[in-house]
Amino acid sequence: MTNPPAASEPAARPRRVLLASPRGWCAGVDRAVLTVEKALEQYGPPIYVRHEIVHNKHVVRTLQDKGAVFVERTDEVPEGAIVVLSAHGVAPTVHAEAAERGLATIDATCPLVTKVHREAVRYAREDYDILLIGHEGHEEVIGTSGEAPDHITVVDGPDDVAGLSVRDESKVVWLSQTTLSVDETMETVDALKERFPNLASPPSDDICYATQNRQTAVKKLAEDADLVIVVGSRNSSNSVRMVEVALDAGAPAAHLVDFAHEIDEAWLDGVSTVGLTSGASAPDVLVDGVLRWLAERGYDEVETVTTADESIVFALPHELRRQLR
Ligand code: SF4
Repeated sequence: MTNPPAASEPAARPRRVLLASPRGWCAGVDRAVLTVEKALEQYGPPIYVRHEIVHNKHVVRTLQDKGAVFVERTDEVPEGAIVVLSAHGVAPTVHAEAAERGLATIDATCPLVTKVHREAVRYAREDYDILLIGHEGHEEVIGTSGEAPDHITVVDGPDDVAGLSVRDESKVVWLSQTTLSVDETMETVDALKERFPNLASPPSDDICYATQNRQTAVKKLAEDADLVIVVGSRNSSNSVRMVEVALDAGAPAAHLVDFAHEIDEAWLDGVSTVGLTSGASAPDVLVDGVLRWLAERGYDEVETVTTADESIVFALPHELRRQLR
């Protein structure tokens, strides 16, 4: 029998988890992963995949185990083989290289990235200077820039704005990477508008619905959580942004982990409420692992915090649909 705590001892604080919804896989990631799985089923291994199909270690390892071979460059793929292009999109030069090598290409670029590519092509055709807000060197930014290299300048935040020059200040438009922080991007847009008062805006948001919804959800968690854990990989732009958004929204601490075993027990010191979410490329099986890890440490009360409903689904790439028919 356990003695009740002495009157002078403080009562233990309740331990709970606030679980964000929506979180994790978006429609573009779901489609890209399914594309590789269906290609493996249809044609058998090996199926080559240019670049990590989505930025998540677990997903990449699981597909490797099934026979996917990840390469960084098209010339690493044997002539005539099948290659899947990742969800982040590629420059037209990559399609040309693949055609030259006689590769059978299956393009798993997310349709929302393709939308930004089309905008870039259209504005370049109308001879605009395009200021592409995004992270220099990110796969998606490289792909979009490749659509109109002579017209696009990458703007990696407000600090880049002072150094920009354009040919005609009356013909300038901004576009953006799909996975940025919404608030930071608007700061950059405001700085651009101050510098170029006639700056045109894209017809609709470039930051995709999934990125926006996950950031809204993590902001909500940050209101009540003593610690926010985001499940995702370090090279996943939207996952890294979620940690930053949580901290900006007032979370006392926020960390990114690929797997439950990466959580440091010390992070839980004095923590009553843990906010848990995951980036758009992280599968829910990894979140389940974190929930189990937390339950073993007394955080076994889980409350879902819903800020949006998502029902978007993208059809498989047409190259694969044709074959499957
Ligand atoms: S994060 Fe957005 S743009 Fe990227 S794959 Fe998912 S839905 Fe598409």
